[in-house]
Amino acid sequence: MTGKNYIGNQLAATGTKTYKTFNPELNQENETVFVEATSIEIEEAVNLAAAAFKEFRTISGFKKAEFLNAIADEILALDDLLIQTFCSESGLPEGRAKGERGRTIGQLRSFANLVAEGSWVEATIDEAQPNREPMPKSDIRKMLIPLGPVVVFGASNFPLAYSTAGGDTAAALASGCPVLVKSHPMHAGTGELVASAIVKAAKKTGMPNGVFSNLNSSGIEVGQQLVAHPKVKAVGFTGSIKGGRALLDLAAKRAEPIPVFAEMGSINPVIILPKALENRYQEIAKTYAGSITLGAGQFCTNPGLLIGIKSESLSNFIAAVSEEIIKINPSCMLHPNIKKGYTTNKEKIVSQEKVSVTANYTSTIKNNYAEQAIVTVDGKTFLENTTLHLEVFGPFSMIVQCKNASELEEVIANLEGQLTGTVIADENEISDYQNVISALQNRVGRIIFNGVPTGVEVCESMVHGGPYPASTDSRFTAVGINSIKRWVRPFSYQDWPNELLPKELQNENSMSIFRTIDGLRTTKKI
Ligand code: NAP
Repeated sequence: MTGKNYIGNQLAATGTKTYKTFNPELNQENETVFVEATSIEIEEAVNLAAAAFKEFRTISGFKKAEFLNAIADEILALDDLLIQTFCSESGLPEGRAKGERGRTIGQLRSFANLVAEGSWVEATIDEAQPNREPMPKSDIRKMLIPLGPVVVFGASNFPLAYSTAGGDTAAALASGCPVLVKSHPMHAGTGELVASAIVKAAKKTGMPNGVFSNLNSSGIEVGQQLVAHPKVKAVGFTGSIKGGRALLDLAAKRAEPIPVFAEMGSINPVIILPKALENRYQEIAKTYAGSITLGAGQFCTNPGLLIGIKSESLSNFIAAVSEEIIKINPSCMLHPNIKKGYTTNKEKIVSQEKVSVTANYTSTIKNNYAEQAIVTVDGKTFLENTTLHLEVFGPFSMIVQCKNASELEEVIANLEGQLTGTVIADENEISDYQNVISALQNRVGRIIFNGVPTGVEVCESMVHGGPYPASTDSRFTAVGINSIKRWVRPFSYQDWPNELLPKELQNENSMSIFRTIDGLRTTKKI
């Protein structure tokens, strides 16, 4: 580990601003000194990315697949050093580090398969009709093409799977876009190791220099310079609403505005219907105590809001979940700043009028560990006070007690956009709550039946996104192979000579991909 930046394939550290990462478990700084990228280094990295794009955008799917698979292999080759660095910079256990590495590798390989196969470009051909009356029709052929250099801001809570070589990077590289990573300061060492794997893979598979850069920073300036740069064409972000919104506004103010795909806050409402509560409140309480505290609550899909209709069963549930959650051993948070944010936001909620605390872990705990808590409030208060709608990033949940089904519907309709919504119901119960379900569908990207929102499967049918502020563009997912669509644009060729067209659109269909020809999906040649 060098603490340096990767400006394309070269290590560089000409700056003077330095910082270290922090081991929250040991409550001490790690040793490596990281050097923040300078303005000149950022400029060089962006220029290299723009130059690399000219070649990278035309590279075949097979070659890109080789590159993505080589990144996966090089990450695996980092072996224990990567796992130990991950743990020392996040306080997360080894099992989680290995799980996240597996997810990262899986994502890279699934994008490799996607681009090697090739049909993802959605090739669409409408053949010419020279004899059409009253006007002849031209030959029009459309496919998806990459946007250009993409800036990726990794997530603090996923040092591997949603960071340097995480979902955004894998999808952008697969699409043919060079990537500039704004390294997350909390796990800069994990980031540098993964960056070294990407650079090795790029060299081994003959990718142009500049296809990838990794820029260190411990403040907002590096990210802002990157997003404002005219040669950058899109941004991927995972983090706070404040950070994502600042970047969205910055991108919109550019002479050429660019898309920012930010995945931000979510409190993931869970609606618990009366019969389910009556029949199995104890079981639901146990399951939810586990889901709320999983990974110290540091998941974008953490269930931060449970909603029910006032009844004896709801009271029993509140008592049971409060009892269960206190039994769980607290765990370490990612960084003292995340712990500080958790404590501040929790206190902000607790200090609001008519909020009752039903569980609060008070035994002595280690530094940077999180005390889990549950609070409750009535539906009317929740509707009137939007401070209560804030995300508390950590092992915390609020239970809203509504007076009836119509107040439940109103509470849901007044929520900000969310990544997920969950319904806990017993047989046939859901049909009595169709308005509630419709209201929920209108606010979320994914709806879950009798489960927990934590645990995001990486697969083609997954939607990880939702109405603002869950994400800045609810038409796209941040997880799964369809996330590639964030980094491309549709492009049409009109009457273009066959031999000059990309292979995907040529008559011969030498790649045997699925295409839509005159309205029919087929692998046939023309
Ligand atoms: P963050 O504060 O949003 O920062 C994420 C990244 O964006 C960092 O690299 C940060 O750079 C950069 N950044 C933030 N504000 C910026 C701005 N105005 N201009 C340019 N760059 C900016 O998130 P975090 O540090 O990862 O975690 C803090 C909080 O975010 C958590 O407590 C939690 O509330 C939330 N969070 C939510 C999720 C979710 O999925 N819902 C996931 C992770 C975090 P620097 O750090 O270098 O300043």
